[in-house]
Amino acid sequence: MTGSKILEVESLSKKYKTVQALHDITFSLEEGDIFAFLGPNGAGKTTTLRILLDIIKADTGSIKWKLNGYSGKVPNPALMGYLPEERGLYTDLPVIRSLVYLASIRGMKPTEAHHAAMEWLEKLELADRAKEKLQNLSKGNQQKVQFIASIIHKPAFAILDEPFSGLDPLNQEKFIAYIQELNQQGSTILLSSHQMPLVEKIARKVFLINNGQEVYNGHLSDIYKKYGQHHTLIVSFDSEPPIGQLKESGIIESIEIEESNRLRLTFAQGVALNQIMEKLSCLENLHTVKSENANLHDIFVSLVQNQKAN
Ligand code: ATP
Repeated sequence: MTGSKILEVESLSKKYKTVQALHDITFSLEEGDIFAFLGPNGAGKTTTLRILLDIIKADTGSIKWKLNGYSGKVPNPALMGYLPEERGLYTDLPVIRSLVYLASIRGMKPTEAHHAAMEWLEKLELADRAKEKLQNLSKGNQQKVQFIASIIHKPAFAILDEPFSGLDPLNQEKFIAYIQELNQQGSTILLSSHQMPLVEKIARKVFLINNGQEVYNGHLSDIYKKYGQHHTLIVSFDSEPPIGQLKESGIIESIEIEESNRLRLTFAQGVALNQIMEKLSCLENLHTVKSENANLHDIFVSLVQNQKAN
């Protein structure tokens, strides 16, 4: 796979009546990428994806697609796969009929579509439910069918909005493997999620977004090198944690309350462990201290807090 740019997005902004959903968002994807939009609820992920798909219009900014010989401002539907955040399938049709119908409008012959649909249903342990109405399936199983519908035609570019939503941990892991498989077979993937630990396992590039603004845009490996040098400790106390005293120590970047007497403390980059231990050992009600490796969640929280402070 080459690394040519197939999508270039520049300075997208979008305001709904009172909410500035996107501020000046710029990013690009290369062929073969697994690129993840990551951010909390309301960050602007779905808005971005809907603009890319030309479902809604941006107020300002530009989009350039250059995919498999096609170029334009709007995507070529024949090359796209889209898993929407909200369920979009016909709930009173048998699962297999929906899948064959949707695959056929994306150019697959009925027999080929039927074969591919059954293969995917087998894989996702739903073959025995093929003739049932979609509405009879559980939320997670409906998500599986929706996923199959979006990628059955092996799209050159798949946009997956919250693909792990409604799935149990075992199925989330399976989806990670399917998305990787799809990518290895030639699909470029743009996904959105608020589940950082899952995205960490799969994405090569990430766009961290908060309140419609870029927090980070780049390779996942680089984000750890650049920002992952913080110490994070899970600290338990015998009684109410002395949050005020911790804040006054001047070395803590973020404090999150995990449980009533347990905190997750992230220390500023460059603060040495012995300096941290010295401060903690002064606290009277300290119970236990456990070290944690830096992860995307910690990095995100600390970047957002820094952004607020600046
Ligand atoms: P989630 O993870 O909860 O799906 P998101 O990152 O996808 O969130 P968006 O759905 O893009 O976020 O929403 C961004 C902001 O725009 C939010 O504040 C949301 O309330 C607002 N918003 C989204 N759609 C509309 C709309 N149609 N009208 C008004 N405000 C909207």
